[in-house]
Amino acid sequence: MTLQSIDPATGNVYATFAPTSATALEQALASAERTAITWAAQPLTTRLALLRALARRLRAERTRLARLITDEMGKLSAEAEAEAEIDKCALVCDYYAEHAATQLADIPLTSDASRSLLAHQPLGVVLAVMPWNFPFWQVLRCAAPALAAGNVVLLKHASNVPRCALAIAELFTAVDAPEGVFQTLLIDAETAEQVVADPRVRAVSLTGSERAGRRVAGIAGANLKKSLLELGGADACVILEDADLERAAETGARSRFINAGQSCIAAKRFIVVEAVADDFVARLQSRVEALVPGDPRDPATTLAPLARADLRETLHQQVEQSRTAGAELRCGGQPQPGPGWFYAPTLLDRVGPGMPAYDDELFGPVATVIRVADEAAALRVANDSRFGLGGSVWSADAARGERFARAMACGAAFVNGLVKSDPRLPFGGIKDSGYGRELGAPGIAEFLNLKTLWIA
Ligand code: NAP
Repeated sequence: MTLQSIDPATGNVYATFAPTSATALEQALASAERTAITWAAQPLTTRLALLRALARRLRAERTRLARLITDEMGKLSAEAEAEAEIDKCALVCDYYAEHAATQLADIPLTSDASRSLLAHQPLGVVLAVMPWNFPFWQVLRCAAPALAAGNVVLLKHASNVPRCALAIAELFTAVDAPEGVFQTLLIDAETAEQVVADPRVRAVSLTGSERAGRRVAGIAGANLKKSLLELGGADACVILEDADLERAAETGARSRFINAGQSCIAAKRFIVVEAVADDFVARLQSRVEALVPGDPRDPATTLAPLARADLRETLHQQVEQSRTAGAELRCGGQPQPGPGWFYAPTLLDRVGPGMPAYDDELFGPVATVIRVADEAAALRVANDSRFGLGGSVWSADAARGERFARAMACGAAFVNGLVKSDPRLPFGGIKDSGYGRELGAPGIAEFLNLKTLWIA
C-alpha cells in the first residue's frame, strides 16, 4: 500500500508516500506510552503553553497550510474557507488554553471523609482516526482538549490527505512539543484496527462514516476501551410558513454547498411547509444554479470538486436512485465532464421515504427538498432519520422555533441560523450519528479518568 496526495480538481498526483513501517509503528506506540506518563506529570501551565504556541504557529502559517488543504482535498481558497479552517484550529487551541484550568480543577465532594473530591486525570494514549473533509480542524478539535488534559495523541488520518497529516505533526515539532506527544501514523484502516486493539492505546476518537464507526467501536468495545464517534448526518433544515424565506434560502444554500456539500452538519434535508414550498424552492434554486464549479484556487469559483472519485460515484448513484424512485430533478444531477471530480450543483424536489436522498446521507453538492403539510408533519419527518447530528428550524417566532428545536432528535439544533461548530459549544450526535461530545467543557471530559479521592 502507498498513500497518494492527489489534486481533486485535476486528478494529478502531487506525491506518493510509503506507509509507516511495522518497526516505526512499534516505536511510535512505545514512545507514546512513555510520553503519556511524563506529559501527564507536567504542570498544566506547561501543557497549555504548548497549545498557545501551536495557535500562534497555525496563524503564522495560515496561508501555506490553507493552500495544502486546497491542493489535497479541494477546498475553495476563494472564500478563504481553507484559511478560516486554520484560524478555527488556532481558536480551539486558545479556547482550551484559556479554559482547561477551570474545566480540569478538582471538584470538592461531600461524604463521610474529612475531604473527598473528584480529580480529572488523563487516560493515556488516545488514537485519533480522522476524515479528510476538514483535515486540520477535525484533528485539532480532538487533539487540543486531549493534550490539555494530559493525554498524548496518535493520528491515523484519512489516506487521501497524507500531506496534511504530516504537516500537523510538523507543527508540533516546530513548537518543541516533547517527542511522543503527537505523532502521525501513515497507516491503512486495517493496521489502524490493530492499533485500536493495542493495549497501549487507552481510547479512540473517530470522525468518519458509520461503517468505520461500527468497526472501530466494536474493536474498542471488545478491548474495553473508551470510544467517541462523530459520524455522518442527514440534518433537517425546517422551513415553517412564517420563516424569513430569503434568509433561510441564503443560509440554507451556504450550509448545503459549503465544502462542496462534504460537511457532516450540512443542511441535507430541507423540510418545507407546503404553503411556502414553491416560493422557498425558487429562491433556493436560483442560488444553486448560480454556483460556479471550477479550480478551487480561482477566486471566481464558488463550488469545489469532491475530494475523491469514489465519493462522486456514490453520490451520483444516490441521485439516480432517488430520481428513479420519484424525486423531481430541478437542476444538475450529473458529474461535470472534464478533469477533476466535480459534480453539478443539484436540487432534488418532492423527495420522500424509500429514496437515498431521504433515508441516507448525501455527501456532496445536492440539496434535497421534502414537502410537508404543516409543523407537526415537519417534526415527524425531521425525526424520521436514523441520523441525529445537527438540525435547524426557521420561523419568525423565536419561541416557536425554540419549542421545535427542543423536540428535534439530534445533538445540536439551531434556530434561524447556520448549524456550525464552535470551540465553545459541545458538538456531537445521537443515534447513528455516533456518541460522545467534542468541544466545550464536555469535550475535555471525554478522555479523562474522573477519579474519586477519599481522605479520612
Ligand atoms: P471513512 O471511510 O469512515 O474514513 C474516515 C477515517 O476512518 C479515515 O481515516 C479512514 O481511513 C478511517 N477508517 C475507515 N475504516 C476504518 C476501519 N475499519 N478501521 C480504522 N479506521 C478506519 O469515511 P470516507 O470513506 O472518507 O467517507 C465516506 C462517508 O463518511 C461520507 O460519505 C460520510 O458519510 C462520512 N463522513 C463523515 C464525516 C463527518 O465529519 N462526520 C467526515 C467524512 C466522512 P482510510 O482513509 O485509510 O480508509
